[in-house]
Amino acid sequence: MTDEKRVESLPLTKTGLCPNCNKPSDVKYRPFCSKRCADVDLGQWLNEGYCIESEEENNFDEEDVT
Ligand SMILES: [Zn+2]
Repeated sequence: MTDEKRVESLPLTKTGLCPNCNKPSDVKYRPFCSKRCADVDLGQWLNEGYCIESEEENNFDEEDVT
């Protein structure tokens, strides 16, 4: 249970635009334009149970082994 990992996994925009409202992102709140957008996005993540780590936990190769 490491929240730090999730923070690193946040999707970064290559366009330099806030993924929440498409405004130019602020270096202080990258990739968001403001703390407000950062908080909103983070809240959506938690609510949706967005978990990239789960992909790594699903070892399909192991399931194929009989
Ligand atoms: Zn924004």
